[in-house]
Amino acid sequence: MLFDTHAHLNDPAFDGDRPAVLTRAAEAGVAGLLDVADAPADWERVLKGCRAASPGPRVLCALGLHPYYADQDAEAAAQALLAKAGLPEVAAAGEVGLDFAKCAVPRETQKRSLLRLLEAALAARLPLIIHSRDAYPDTLDLLEGFYRGRRREGRFWGVLHCFSGGAAEAGRGAALGFALGVDGPVTYPKNEPLREALRAAGLDVLVLETDCPYLPPQSSRGKRNEPSAVKEINEALASALGVSAEECARRTSLNARSLFPKFG
Ligand SMILES: [Zn+2]
Ligand SMILES: [Zn+2]
Repeated sequence: MLFDTHAHLNDPAFDGDRPAVLTRAAEAGVAGLLDVADAPADWERVLKGCRAASPGPRVLCALGLHPYYADQDAEAAAQALLAKAGLPEVAAAGEVGLDFAKCAVPRETQKRSLLRLLEAALAARLPLIIHSRDAYPDTLDLLEGFYRGRRREGRFWGVLHCFSGGAAEAGRGAALGFALGVDGPVTYPKNEPLREALRAAGLDVLVLETDCPYLPPQSSRGKRNEPSAVKEINEALASALGVSAEECARRTSLNARSLFPKFG
């Protein structure tokens, strides 16, 4: 059994064949999938997608305000998140975060928006999906400052999704109570530094994700990625950690369930 804890199933790239994509995910062993919404304009559509009866993995969603959209009204997003947090389909807040790679929104605006959404997620008791690109020092400083002195109920506050930092950042994230999301890049032959960081972090804090339709694993580079690829990601992670694929699937699924309790 596998969980894809970060899939943009609502992306138009899947409009032509979403049921087939979900069937292939089920065939690959995917039991649960988190459909991530990047902006409030998409939230209702994503919720509808979760409710559409369809065979295959259980689909829950995360409602977010991606740093690309951090210049939108964060207060309105925070209020809307609070209003929807109790719905059974809403398993997480996110993605939210900081992107210093190619995001047009000024860094201070991104930080203000992120802080407002962190507060809302805490009030709504939702785990967080944190996006951090070329921004680990600022992201970790901000998260450490925000959670200082606060007590959490479960094992994790959230996940540093698509983790791409080094062992030091992995350690800071885990110490703070964040899981690390493992994606297609773990399968790339040249990505030994990432595998080293994940080994240092240990299987207890790792969850699988695809970030599809982006970030395809090695066997489908250049093509559209999809949730069934968590199987290949799981196999690469298992071999990097020196455990069986079954053990890796079992432990990452346990972590995914502690991270997102609405999967039950
Ligand atoms: Zn992201
Ligand atoms: Zn994403």
